[in-house]
Amino acid sequence: MALTAVKGFNDILPDESGRWQYIEQTARRVFELNGFGEIRVPVMEKTELFCRSIGDATDIVEKEMYTFVDKGENSVTLRPEGTAGVMRAFIEHKMYAQDPIAKLYYMGPMFRYERPQKGRYRQFHQIGAEITGVNDPLADAQVLNMLTSFFREIGLTEPTLQINSLGCPECRPAYRAALRSFLEERIGHLCDDCKRRLVTNPLRALDCKVPGCVEATTLAPSVLEHLCGGCDDHFSSVRRYLDLSATPYSINSRMVRGLDYYTRTTFEMVTGLLGSQSAVAAGGRYDGLISQLGGPAIPGIGFAMGLERVALLLGSQEFATQPDLFIATMGGGERDVAFRLMDGLLKSGVRVEMDYEGKSLKSQMRRADKLKARYSVVIGENEVASGRASIKRMADGFQEEAALTITGIQLLVKSVKQ
Ligand code: ATP
Ligand code: MG
Repeated sequence: MALTAVKGFNDILPDESGRWQYIEQTARRVFELNGFGEIRVPVMEKTELFCRSIGDATDIVEKEMYTFVDKGENSVTLRPEGTAGVMRAFIEHKMYAQDPIAKLYYMGPMFRYERPQKGRYRQFHQIGAEITGVNDPLADAQVLNMLTSFFREIGLTEPTLQINSLGCPECRPAYRAALRSFLEERIGHLCDDCKRRLVTNPLRALDCKVPGCVEATTLAPSVLEHLCGGCDDHFSSVRRYLDLSATPYSINSRMVRGLDYYTRTTFEMVTGLLGSQSAVAAGGRYDGLISQLGGPAIPGIGFAMGLERVALLLGSQEFATQPDLFIATMGGGERDVAFRLMDGLLKSGVRVEMDYEGKSLKSQMRRADKLKARYSVVIGENEVASGRASIKRMADGFQEEAALTITGIQLLVKSVKQ
């Protein structure tokens, strides 16, 4: 039987990787402009890290993690998200001793055992960013503005920003209690998952997609009406900063996140174009996380976006890079000249392709079309003898003569490229 990839794990072929690189490069450019530096952490961590950070009663820890025992009898887990590992590294290397304010970004594969479907895979990729050490709502606004800029820079008008506040350990217990008693009165309408969540994590019921639960929770108490003074002020300031920078957003008081470490500001970039995979990026503040993992009491805020979902939104735009020039030869005798020319042009930064197989001129030209070469040149005996050839612009067939030298062709191709 032929070998295939593991279910939910995808290959990204060269046709598609141009689009991925475009997303990654745009993220690097926008994040680095905002003063973020890249951090690279392992894809596998001790299982305990995720239980302690994401929370035992979350979908991720309860049922989505790739956890196994290694040959040394240690329980290890393929990372289901990036923040926990980044904060583990921040603490382990005492990065805070130098400066509690760290602006970090990462990109790479994450792993969750979920039901694969469009926009939802078992190995998927996130690009994320975190700011530690700033309580001020200004950091929240910068993170949100940076995320908004990223989507503008890659040329998407979807998704749109939704924000909420989940309060803090001071005000959330009262909200949780209010929500729990509201849900208890409607327990008959809730799905089995939500009945269980009622005890472990009632806020998750607001995120449930089962129609009965959606209906039963329509009039649920709003978290925003239960914020303490500090959280309320913080949330107003975030909104004021967003207004100051003319960043469009809407408030969604039903937004809860699937990770326990969030406090205060939470947000999602949401699209209507990907079915139930509506969140393209998501994040929030996690003021208690670093101390919960054994570090000092340093706040943080960050987000992660799903690269596959961003790629789906970008659609079938052309991102593959095309050759600048295709060199075809009339016969075998010109192949040495063509090869030397290709080698010299490649060394000087012109992207060149030529025929590898000694095919007929017709099939060489078909290949030039297939590769979407910008220009082509045919080298035969006359061209070799005169040292000149006509270079054809493939888009419209316009021909221009150039010296058959590296600089001659380079000048022509470069001048039109710009
Ligand atoms: P969802 O509600 O779609 O399950 P989530 O709340 O679990 O998303 P987060 O943990 O906040 O997602 O992760 C941030 C982003 O990572 C998501 O907005 C999404 O774009 C992406 N993402 C999460 N899980 C997957 C997955 N299984 N496959 C592809 N992308 C994913
Ligand atoms: Mg999920």
